[in-house]
Amino acid sequence: MLDTDEHRDMYRRLWDLVGKDPPVPALYEYAPDMPLDTAACFYTHDGDVLDPRILIGRTPCPAQCTKPDLDRATLNELISLAHERGHERSWREGTYRENSMPEERRAWKHARDILGSMGFKDWDAFAAARESSLAEHGHRGTPE
Ligand SMILES: [Zn+2]
Repeated sequence: MLDTDEHRDMYRRLWDLVGKDPPVPALYEYAPDMPLDTAACFYTHDGDVLDPRILIGRTPCPAQCTKPDLDRATLNELISLAHERGHERSWREGTYRENSMPEERRAWKHARDILGSMGFKDWDAFAAARESSLAEHGHRGTPE
């Protein structure tokens, strides 16, 4: 659970960062290719169709899948959401490279900037999430 008002506010702001063109909405939807410990993903297309979105995996998904579910959100999920917004930033800046280690590290760097600008302070939890996510990509064989 998110136990502070600051975290709840950050989660809501990260969820709602959709005002740019094209918008990149966040929603709860579990995709089978998500690793369980960092259950979130950034997608740019649905097949060939441009459809940028961030999926936050939960089982079961909340009934209202397009609204932030603050009562069951966790600090790890908040950090994952920031990481996916980091991929979004890469994509908007034209540096996004799907499924690559440089992109993963870039998204974590953007996530640190985004969270820092929101007054985030739990950098130990952030560092642990980053390490575990990069290790997971290493195990999966994500290429350099
Ligand atoms: Zn990533």
